[in-house]
Amino acid sequence: MGRRMTDTEKEDKRIHREIDKLRKLISDSERKIRDLQGLCSHPGIHIKYMGDTGNWCPYDDSYWADWSCPNCGWRNRSSQEEATRYLQLHKKA
Ligand SMILES: [Zn+2]
Repeated sequence: MGRRMTDTEKEDKRIHREIDKLRKLISDSERKIRDLQGLCSHPGIHIKYMGDTGNWCPYDDSYWADWSCPNCGWRNRSSQEEATRYLQLHKKA
């Protein structure tokens, strides 16, 4: 037993390890970005009121708000009511 690994097998293992390392870096970075986004005060946040209307069945019509922060890249989707509450709360004096 104990057949020596071929060069191809070694290379494949190396690729696997390298990709594992890179995926870990990506997920660490994504977590750090989420942490920083949680600290951002979201200056100049863009809130766009969106609607999908004119459906054949009016009950399928829907309304929502898309949020995006140009400072940290945070994105969110909420009800229009929640977006309006946020804007009122954070209105600049
Ligand atoms: Zn932000």
